[in-house]
Amino acid sequence: MSLRFIQHSFGQADGLAKRALELLVARSIPPSPLNFTVAYEYFGGINPELTAALDKLLAGDEAVDAYVLRDLYERHVASDQYKNLRGMGDDLQTLLSSLVQSVSEAGTGVAVFGATVARHMGSLHGANGPDAVRAIAADLLAATADIQTRNRTLQERLEETHKETESLRKELEQHRREALIDPLTGLYNRRALESRLDEWQVRPLAVVMLDIDHFKRINDSYGHAVGDVVIRNVADTLRKCVRGDDFAVRYGGEEFVVLLPDTGLDGAIKVAETIRKRIEALRLVRRQDNFTLAPFTISAGVAERRGGDDHDSLFQRVDAALYESKSRGRNCVTHEGQLH
Ligand code: GH3
Ligand code: MG
Ligand code: MG
Repeated sequence: MSLRFIQHSFGQADGLAKRALELLVARSIPPSPLNFTVAYEYFGGINPELTAALDKLLAGDEAVDAYVLRDLYERHVASDQYKNLRGMGDDLQTLLSSLVQSVSEAGTGVAVFGATVARHMGSLHGANGPDAVRAIAADLLAATADIQTRNRTLQERLEETHKETESLRKELEQHRREALIDPLTGLYNRRALESRLDEWQVRPLAVVMLDIDHFKRINDSYGHAVGDVVIRNVADTLRKCVRGDDFAVRYGGEEFVVLLPDTGLDGAIKVAETIRKRIEALRLVRRQDNFTLAPFTISAGVAERRGGDDHDSLFQRVDAALYESKSRGRNCVTHEGQLH
């Protein structure tokens, strides 16, 4: 849950909580912690991006439901937490590595000290000096050997700690990977998409955006569980139609994006058409009663990155192309060249 909660006084928080609940109740959205967080942060005005995004949705005539709130949570609340997670492991690792390094340097220092004392012991022998001096030097050598032993133990213990940290770091890495995967479909999520786009800033790239047609009807006719099955089947189809470095993403509820590196507009249109046809041909049968779902379709938009494009400008064109497919009657692919 977000730490931003603590910034309000009790009175303010009470007022915000009431408004948040009212919004959820008015929209028949269950007041789960996640939904409540989004609504609370919205009224709190402490998360400007979230407020702007929800304002836009509330002003439009699109349904604002639990799915929409989850999407907003993922985009504007959880992403902060993910960023924190991202830095954490590296910090830990750097800290421990430098600790081990300094102890091992300390060990080397003591060893050098030991060698020096031993050398002086030799000279003392040669010089036939007083016994007292020799005795002191012998003591000194013994003390050094002791330090070395202790230091070795310390170093071993630190190496153990280092190993433990390494396994912790791996665990963290696993969580980080999970933070990039959409749990329903196993596809990458929007966060993963953003970091991949950053990585591929200079790589030629085409983008396909796909949206299930009349998905609301599927939910309304068969229920949300069947809706989820449909989403998973679209995801499986996407997985089958991409290869190599292609990057398939669940972009939102029933929206998907495929990044096609080193691919031009024509290639991307072909991929989009293949996906569209495969989905149109899908026949989903419920095992327990052999009930066959009515066929469903997707619409797609395609654009390729140009010089001077940033993430937003590129996605605006893909989005516009997808929107055009919807207005042309759905179940089709539109590319940016067809936009006026
Ligand atoms: P269009 O052809 O214009 O795309 O119409 P549509 O009905 O597909 O689009 P709309 O955006 O109106 O509705 C999408 C719905 O998808 C809204 C939401 O209830 C539902 N939805 C979003 N995420 C999920 C999910 O994870 N599972 C299920 N079952 N439904 C979801
Ligand atoms: Mg849709
Ligand atoms: Mg949609």
